[in-house]
Amino acid sequence: MPIYNFNAGPSALPYPVIEEAKKSMFDYQNSELSVLEMSHRGPIYEEIHYGALNKVRSLLKVPDEFEILFLQGGASLQFAMLPMNFLTNEKKAAYILSGSWSEKAFQEASRIGETYELASTKADNYRAIPFVPLDQCSQDTSYIHLTSNNTIFGTQWISYPNNKFAPICVDASSDIFSKTLDWGNIDLLYAGAQKNAGPSGVTIVILRKSFMEQANKDIPKILSYETHVKTDSLYHTPPTGSIYLLGLVMNWIEEQGGVAAMEKFAAEKASLLYSAIDNSDGFYKGHALKDSRSTMNVTFNLPSKELEQKFVKIAEEKGFIGLKGHRSVGGLRASIYNAVPKEHVETLVDFMESFLKEHK
Ligand code: PMP
Repeated sequence: MPIYNFNAGPSALPYPVIEEAKKSMFDYQNSELSVLEMSHRGPIYEEIHYGALNKVRSLLKVPDEFEILFLQGGASLQFAMLPMNFLTNEKKAAYILSGSWSEKAFQEASRIGETYELASTKADNYRAIPFVPLDQCSQDTSYIHLTSNNTIFGTQWISYPNNKFAPICVDASSDIFSKTLDWGNIDLLYAGAQKNAGPSGVTIVILRKSFMEQANKDIPKILSYETHVKTDSLYHTPPTGSIYLLGLVMNWIEEQGGVAAMEKFAAEKASLLYSAIDNSDGFYKGHALKDSRSTMNVTFNLPSKELEQKFVKIAEEKGFIGLKGHRSVGGLRASIYNAVPKEHVETLVDFMESFLKEHK
């Protein structure tokens, strides 16, 4: 039976990447060495490491004024590392709350220094991306943090607030490589790789050099961005296998036509699902307001919890996995990251239509 993987992360990897990895991961270029057993200081791994860093730069069109890092600890470590580096005693950090992950980032920063909520849609169960009153941003703001795509609630920013008031720092864990970015308006961006960039174990951090120069020097060396910049992310043993697979995913994105092509595919796939929701006469109800809808995580409800359970059960029998909504919000969620083929989304839409016919 074919499997249709709609997991929220770790999630589907491109099929050609899995095929390539099967061949090369355990006998790299006929060296009889697995990537996993190579020294991270040796020439073969260095080629893999710098190759992957360069591909991230070229695919995301990252300008020279930015550094790119491969770190560990997931996006969750960035929730702490960002304020440790930039939230100094005399300043405050502004957080925009658009979902559970931004709340987590806010809570972690609040343990480190002074923070404030600049905007939030919590009262509306995070159905929308908040309006940001930038004029209310206090003068002593060290940075503004936002989550570009809200994996759990299924909402996504179209464009980020202007960074002329304070540096903009973005958690792009669930939509990196799915849309082109305006670097003029970003000072730091981070993402765990396990959705659009590869397997878990490696986190991409991209930061503006001039911003990094303002970082707090008085923190443990391992948590300082500068340490990793100075050592090309080889300060300590990097997650070599994860970085190797990330490089293969970068090659695949390039072969598909780059990030602009990913953006187009994402919009096409999302519109198939949103049309199925909108044309269901209210049977399927989207969680996100239309102008905040995500192209990566499509969240929806059915008329009752019983029907939702039945939907998930029958879907699983047919090979669909990962459709159950996050435990904090319930309902259904289809995560349609870059590697999810359009045909899988079409098959899901067919299933939604037949389920609707039988149960409305
Ligand atoms: N931010 C967002 C937007 C996420 O979706 C996730 C994970 N699903 C995280 C942060 C946490 O990432 P990690 O598990 O890599 O720490």
